[in-house]
Amino acid sequence: LIQLAIPLNFIGFVYREIRQGLTDIESMFDLLEVDAEIEDSPNARPLAVANGAISFNNVHFAYDPARQILKGISFDVPAGHTVAVVGPSGAGKSTISRLLYRFYDVQQGTITIDGQDVREVTQTSLRAAIGMVPQDTVLFNDTIAYNIRYGRPSASQEEVERAADIAQVGHFIKSLPEGYKAMVGERGLKLSGGEKQRVAIARTILKSPPILILDEATSALDTHTEQEIQSALDEVSKNRTTLVIAHRLSTVVGADEIIVLKDGGIAERGKHQDLLARNGLYASMWNRQLEATQAEETLKKVRETD
Ligand code: ADP
Ligand code: MG
Repeated sequence: LIQLAIPLNFIGFVYREIRQGLTDIESMFDLLEVDAEIEDSPNARPLAVANGAISFNNVHFAYDPARQILKGISFDVPAGHTVAVVGPSGAGKSTISRLLYRFYDVQQGTITIDGQDVREVTQTSLRAAIGMVPQDTVLFNDTIAYNIRYGRPSASQEEVERAADIAQVGHFIKSLPEGYKAMVGERGLKLSGGEKQRVAIARTILKSPPILILDEATSALDTHTEQEIQSALDEVSKNRTTLVIAHRLSTVVGADEIIVLKDGGIAERGKHQDLLARNGLYASMWNRQLEATQAEETLKKVRETD
């Protein structure tokens, strides 16, 4: 009986380890949002990044042929500039970032980086050139240091800590009893949404890619945390070609161009002031958010005087 119990126990142990391994792999796939169906073309070459200019030309895309998500989108993100994509939920904003990262292929039109079609370069080189701060960051079941260093495995501890400081999460990490060695993820410390996002920003700062995709999800954060994240994002997007998907319009005021997406097309485009002056969709979204912020502040004042 004892002889049998040990192997069973052992199998249980191995099983748990394998299962844990699988969760890590699964979370890695979530993290990378890998679509296994996309393959390198037989004569794919490494992407040669000159300065990271992005161009979407008449891009059509549907996950399901019955429902078009993007119906002929064209825009450029000149090298070093920041373009913001805004619009109602479900408009196809995150889809644009997924297509640039080539999780999916366009059905019509082209996406190029420095003139090279993303379908004609190796996925490894494409993804090495792009830093993505996703909407929902999945962390590995490992130390905080590991999670940050993932952006550039050769980075020194000093570099990891500097990236964390720029991302405004260094102070928090140092306050933990185990510091950078603290385990995070399902088996460790549960970080808040804002903390996880700042870890992802630190990882991207360390990676230091020429192109950045920021899928902001700051709407659920309090104003203070949002401001901290915003300054971390401003820091990382300096002098880089940046595509921002913005939920809070306060974060796009300074963008070189704002694209307002609606029903699979570009409803409006321009700079913040121009769009406000148009008094269209952007202006109404702006006014709605302004009212929401004011209501939030009034509520806070009421609570404070209680
Ligand atoms: P958002 O503007 O909110 O970021 P998304 O680009 O994520 O919108 O999604 C656009 C539309 O595509 C939504 O209606 C969404 O339900 C749908 N969609 C997103 N991902 C998939 C998928 N993997 N398969 C099928 N439909 C999807
Ligand atoms: Mg989205």
